[in-house]
Amino acid sequence: MSDELTCPACRKVNDWDSDQPCVRCEADLNTLRTIQVAAVREQSRAREALRHQDWRAAAEHAARSWNLVQSPESARLGFLAALADSSAGEPSLWLARTGGN
Ligand SMILES: [Zn+2]
Repeated sequence: MSDELTCPACRKVNDWDSDQPCVRCEADLNTLRTIQVAAVREQSRAREALRHQDWRAAAEHAARSWNLVQSPESARLGFLAALADSSAGEPSLWLARTGGN
């Protein structure tokens, strides 16, 4: 996942691993950072589930990550899970979410 966080107020790109407000408009970004950390954690759980060939769990964690932050990495993880087991999701839906990457 990107190590950048775009301020929703002014669109300035900030570091996500800082605890500082937006460098341009001073908006509080900590809630967004918390969401991003949770999304990365769900991606890690999805990868772990893929390693254990638990496609359903992988798809669930990928979906949770996607629902937190719609990132191409979450979509790739969901795609892999759905590709391995079509009952874990629709591969073409996840593929479209990757943005073609
Ligand atoms: Zn800002």
